Amino acid sequence: MKNINSHRKNIRVKGEANGEYVLYWMQINRRLQYNFALEYAVAYANRIGRPLVILEGLACDYPWATSRTSTFILEGMAEHAGHLRDAVSVLYIPYPEQKSGSFDKLVRDLCSRAAILISDEYPVFIMRERNEKLEKELKIPFHTIDSNGIIPMALSDKAPYSAYVFRRMMQKMFRECWEHPPQQHPLKGLQNHGLPDLQNEVMDKRKTGLDRLESSRNIEDFVNGLSSLNNGIGSIEIKGTRKAALERLDAFTGNDLLRYDDDRNDPDKERTSRLSPWLHFGKISAFEVVKEVFAMQPKGWDIGDTRPVNGKRSGFFGGHASIESFLDEIITWRETGFHFALHTSEYDQFDSLPSWARETLSEHSYDRREHVYSYEELAEAGTHDPVWNAAQMQLREEGRIHNYLRMLWGKKVLEWTPDPQTALEYLIDLNNYYAIDGRDPNSYSGIFWIFGRFDRAWGPERQIYGKIRYMSSDSARKKIKMENYLKRYSGL
Ligand SMILES: Cc1cc2nc3c(=O)[nH]c(=O)nc-3n(C[C@H](O)[C@H](O)[C@H](O)COP(=O)(O)OP(=O)(O)OC[C@H]3O[C@@H](n4cnc5c(N)ncnc54)[C@H](O)[C@@H]3O)c2cc1C
Repeated sequence: MKNINSHRKNIRVKGEANGEYVLYWMQINRRLQYNFALEYAVAYANRIGRPLVILEGLACDYPWATSRTSTFILEGMAEHAGHLRDAVSVLYIPYPEQKSGSFDKLVRDLCSRAAILISDEYPVFIMRERNEKLEKELKIPFHTIDSNGIIPMALSDKAPYSAYVFRRMMQKMFRECWEHPPQQHPLKGLQNHGLPDLQNEVMDKRKTGLDRLESSRNIEDFVNGLSSLNNGIGSIEIKGTRKAALERLDAFTGNDLLRYDDDRNDPDKERTSRLSPWLHFGKISAFEVVKEVFAMQPKGWDIGDTRPVNGKRSGFFGGHASIESFLDEIITWRETGFHFALHTSEYDQFDSLPSWARETLSEHSYDRREHVYSYEELAEAGTHDPVWNAAQMQLREEGRIHNYLRMLWGKKVLEWTPDPQTALEYLIDLNNYYAIDGRDPNSYSGIFWIFGRFDRAWGPERQIYGKIRYMSSDSARKKIKMENYLKRYSGL
């Protein structure tokens, strides 16, 4: 039987690997540890006896480009440059471009002499489009590797229409996937084939890239100089480094994990992991998070005791209730979004909603709206509702919204815009511009959940929502206090 990890490989362009080096382009899983794609690139370089080149870049004009996102990415790249700039067996080329097209040219120059291009498989955003485009254009072998989660995306044959459907599959596959984890330090296994002799233009770009990442001051100056970014959305307190991700994981498992189930919906208590920004940019792997979380299970708990429970939410992992609840988010909910997007090319379009949701929303499209806000009014947190404004202020200032309020935040945009299509458009823009974890398969899971994806019809049928699940700020305030939260964010 094939190793389960063979399902992580997508051979996009077949062929003989004849060039001078193996090129790994780190597009989204931007880490040197627990990374199946890097592991594959190392094994490939060893097998054909060629040097390894790792390329990590940043375009200056990607969709929803902001200083916030660019700074976060560059902080992570600077950390890699610190580890790899003087390495003798691997050539690391970091390149944040200043002029549109210049990074693209670097990719093509590097491909012109590479034996193979290996990159990250990713089901949404520019990576999906880029990989599809390169697949049509490249003359060298091109393999993409899925290092996104625990269950390889290729194991599902169609889009899961609910978390239950995915969970049922996950429960059957989990043990085997878990027993084939990524290596902690794939670069340790790299044989030394020296460094390739690259074109001057490429080496000049490498030098420029390293200079741009030399210090936080250089990063700040570089980002401030990019007129293509939305500079109104500035950098945030948390850093885009792996170091920061590991510190957050430590703090979460040490202080909050065992109270996750009871307190996760209370914004005043802040018991959730807050790991989504680093999970999004791949600075940390779901494997290592789950490993740390398993280590917190009570004595006597054993992964070998797990048995599928037909997709039920509890009973599969067992152990501590809070741990089981957290695993449902980081495995089931997170990976449902990846598998769904992979099989749904129109994952970001209104038409990808289930038919019952589209029908009920259309039937209520002309219902009278008591409040209607423009995109700018929403972005500026200028509504009549203090709870919504506080959530939007948190998003503006910190690049995140507490999960429970994020649901409410989305539901109100559906209620306060002229029609569901406009609501969808505004939500995608608000989320992807301001949220540091935006532009992710889970951005689309979360946003489309507002409109009925992965959900069911609810009664009674209401104005505007129809049969879509309803949420209100008043009931949220009755359920949870959020006094500190409101004080903190409405004062901003
Ligand atoms: C309108 C709306 C928009 C959203 N946009 C995004 C987004 O852009 N990026 C994003 O990563 N998530 C998004 N979510 C899902 C969820 O809000 C965040 O993943 C979660 O709040 C992140 O906080 P955390 O890391 O503390 O989560 P924790 O509760 O600690 O959970 C751990 C991890 O599990 C995953 N997870 C948790 N909840 C969900 C969920 N409901 N759906 C899918 N995965 C989940 C995330 O990777 C998260 O980091 C959105 C939800 C809604 C309702």
